[in-house]
Amino acid sequence: MRLSRRHPRYESLIVRAGLARAFREGLVVPEGLIAQGRGEAFDYFLGERTTASARRAERIAALWLWAAERPVVSVNGNVVALAAHEVARLARIHPRLGVEVNLFHRTPARARAVARTLRSAGVRRVLGVRPTVRIPGLPSDRATADREGIYRADVCLVPLEDGDRTAALRARGQRVISIDLNPLSRTSQTADLPIVDEVRRALRNIGDDLSTLVRRGSARAMPPFDRHAALADAIRTMDRRLIRAARGPMPRKRAGR
Ligand code: ATP
Repeated sequence: MRLSRRHPRYESLIVRAGLARAFREGLVVPEGLIAQGRGEAFDYFLGERTTASARRAERIAALWLWAAERPVVSVNGNVVALAAHEVARLARIHPRLGVEVNLFHRTPARARAVARTLRSAGVRRVLGVRPTVRIPGLPSDRATADREGIYRADVCLVPLEDGDRTAALRARGQRVISIDLNPLSRTSQTADLPIVDEVRRALRNIGDDLSTLVRRGSARAMPPFDRHAALADAIRTMDRRLIRAARGPMPRKRAGR
């Protein structure tokens, strides 16, 4: 199907078409398509843009990743379908950042397909294709990890993660940065640093910030982050927009932003 650039939902239709293709290629599972729908709904409420509060969270996330000894970004089917290039860019900018395949619905073929897509986007070393260890406290099929990656990471960046894994990582003393448009999800509610933003926007912003830190040779420090305030900000933004929408048409994103 040809999509017209003039369609008011052009960007979102392109993203959907990309995910549907990734589904047909076996990268994304049907549950992943549903998760995208949930994310889109929250993005509507947020105005389909990065809020000032999310941008602050992304800056702190870049600092944490830069300060970490063994930072790892976790990549599932949706993340690779939506943002393989953004993940590859992060790995290019940050020499210590590990990239690990982490699938909720894991099959060896799917893990290999995700790794292949990451490599073609430019990631040199992909962890987690053949898991070597289990994270305690999780049901068997979701406990798998790479001993060299998420298992020994001090800071884990987990876009579109599930709440149980986030809680299990935190219980091991690992710092978790989540990217999830739903401030009410268990992941957002559990992470040390919840970023309530769309995954591509968030990864691009973190990439910009990391590249500034690298260029300046900035000192490595992990400033504190008020996760409750960040979640409250996201909920307030949605609340404000919904109240305004109840009085008239919802304010839309302006073209080119
Ligand atoms: P949890 O276990 O944390 O409660 P969940 O069961 O609500 O998670 P999942 O299906 O495990 O949800 O994960 C998908 C999450 O990712 C949803 O909260 C959804 O809002 C979010 N999400 C989906 N697409 C995107 C996207 N493109 N960018 C950011 N977040 C997204």
